Amino acid sequence: MSEELKKCPFCGGEADLMTDELGDSNSGTVMCMSCFAVSNTHDNWRDAILAWNPRTEPKPPSADVQEALDALLDMANRLQLLDGAYSWDIEVETIKTALERMGAE
Ligand SMILES: [Zn+2]
Repeated sequence: MSEELKKCPFCGGEADLMTDELGDSNSGTVMCMSCFAVSNTHDNWRDAILAWNPRTEPKPPSADVQEALDALLDMANRLQLLDGAYSWDIEVETIKTALERMGAE
């Protein structure tokens, strides 16, 4: 059953389905084997999987935010070109990495 489970949304660890093997119910709980995050216990173990697996996708930035991100990225690139007495490389890379995470090109 574990191959049907997505990885933990918190740590990316492998998740496993815990079923009521000793009892006579079909109940189940999904647990992350790395950080031990757990789903609710569901009367039917299939429902535990259905509750564990959905993921939301990050929303793309709005046009205004994208425009600001592009301007920041452009500024970062210009700073990198200036690169005079003071090295901006670390700051520029930090900004670029942050922007990429936020969805800027
Ligand atoms: Zn986890």
